[in-house]
Amino acid sequence: MPELPEVEITRRGIEPYVRCQRLGGVVIRQRQLRWPVPREIESRFAHQVIERVHRRAKYLLFQTGSGTAILHLGMSGSLRVINVNTPPQLHDHVDLMLGQQKVLRLRDPRRFGALLWCERDPLDHPLLKHLGPEPLSDAFDGEYLVRQARARRVAIKGFIMNSRIVAGVGNIYANEALFSAGIHPRRAAGRISGARYQRLADAIKAVLQQAIAVGGTTLRDFLRADGTPGYFRSELQVYARAGEPCPRCGGKIRCIVQGQRATYYCAGCQH
Ligand code: ZN
Repeated sequence: MPELPEVEITRRGIEPYVRCQRLGGVVIRQRQLRWPVPREIESRFAHQVIERVHRRAKYLLFQTGSGTAILHLGMSGSLRVINVNTPPQLHDHVDLMLGQQKVLRLRDPRRFGALLWCERDPLDHPLLKHLGPEPLSDAFDGEYLVRQARARRVAIKGFIMNSRIVAGVGNIYANEALFSAGIHPRRAAGRISGARYQRLADAIKAVLQQAIAVGGTTLRDFLRADGTPGYFRSELQVYARAGEPCPRCGGKIRCIVQGQRATYYCAGCQH
């Protein structure tokens, strides 16, 4: 699933091709994504100039003078900038025409992605308005987490994956950040000290920034290849490493299931 770093890498990858471009039309081959693609995408968005591409959590916001197209990659979506004469494949559902030569193409085999149109402030859109702060922003720090966690008994891993608390910390990064901060994934959110929360906030920022930096080095390739930058597995300390030795203490990395998601941790290093 594309997580926040992949979405940010995608944003950086496509922005030079779409910024200040007047769209030359939109082709929709499959309207049934997570929600049906609204007709305004063709009637309103399709001939606008894209002023900027922003990101909020895992949403890409294509800002124009008359509204904003909100795009989410869902479970399996990817965007590529390709030549206009590249034949569409089975799961290539939407094309944004960029001038005469290029197309921004959305591929989404599982169709959990979304493409919506919003003429108000997109940050007030029902999908976006309840999101917590961006994890890479200054508003997100240890003090913020302490305030939000007060008296909460929910496990810390679910707490930091709750998008109302902080937007866009997915399963991989929650696992990695908790390992980095030495916090057991089952510990109650309300029973973690301020100092440990500061370490956790710093760890979340660090793992996300590292993933963006690593992914950024593959940017040029990713625009030409299959569109999914992916992570370098070698960068991950615990995720998907059950039974392997902990990189810090050598103990065995364990796997449990929390909220139907796999949790990887080291019982020796995380308390
Ligand atoms: Zn360990």
